[in-house]
Amino acid sequence: MRLAELHRLANINSLTGLHNRNAMTEAIVERCASGKQLAYLFVDIDRFKAINDSAGHTAGDTVLKAIAERIRAALPDSAIVARPGGDEFTIVLPGVFDQERIERACRRISLACHRPIKIGCKSVTMSCSIGVALFPEHGRTPEELFTSADMAMYAAKRTGRNTFHVFGEREKDDLGRVQFEAQLHDAIRDDQFVLHYQPQYVVETGELVGVEALVR
Ligand code: GH3
Ligand code: MG
Repeated sequence: MRLAELHRLANINSLTGLHNRNAMTEAIVERCASGKQLAYLFVDIDRFKAINDSAGHTAGDTVLKAIAERIRAALPDSAIVARPGGDEFTIVLPGVFDQERIERACRRISLACHRPIKIGCKSVTMSCSIGVALFPEHGRTPEELFTSADMAMYAAKRTGRNTFHVFGEREKDDLGRVQFEAQLHDAIRDDQFVLHYQPQYVVETGELVGVEALVR
């Protein structure tokens, strides 16, 4: 097998011709290391299973291919577009993003999903939910950025789908809770908790009336 073919297999998603998860991760690692600002978008098609269930897996593939093509065409050449798997697409948009620029990019992606797609003699109209995380504000490493965009995308799903959501305070709190839970599990596993008994006295008489058990 030639080197170019090996490179294609390692980096390209065969169904859509977009980058795969591996290529996207490498691109983000590289860009985060350069310190330049970017927006990372996590797009998930809404109620895609219904297409597979009602029209079959091949029809589902047709929809994925059409949406992949349209998202790619709707974005500038500087954007990196990947299909990591399933009905998900991830996008890196280099540059500085304010609310208005985020909205514009998300609207383009949503419109790309909305245009009717022909499956045999029928046509279907899809929508998508988009999570947005900015580097470095919402994640300083690729992993943090992936998690933030993922959480933002689920927030978009929760608010009724067919919308976008930028990682915000609520997700930050949720993330803090998840990280705290993980730290607690680690601490229990590594036996880091120490039990202390603290006596309780009546101030006036000095009488010992009980103990308080504290875990530190
Ligand atoms: P939601 O709005 O919550 O996203 O609902 P959904 O129906 O889109 O559910 P979800 O995103 O969880 O499901 C994605 C489905 O995509 C699950 C799987 O059956 C299907 N799928 C994954 N890979 C492929 C593929 O390569 N081709 C096809 N046709 N379907 C795929
Ligand atoms: Mg979906």
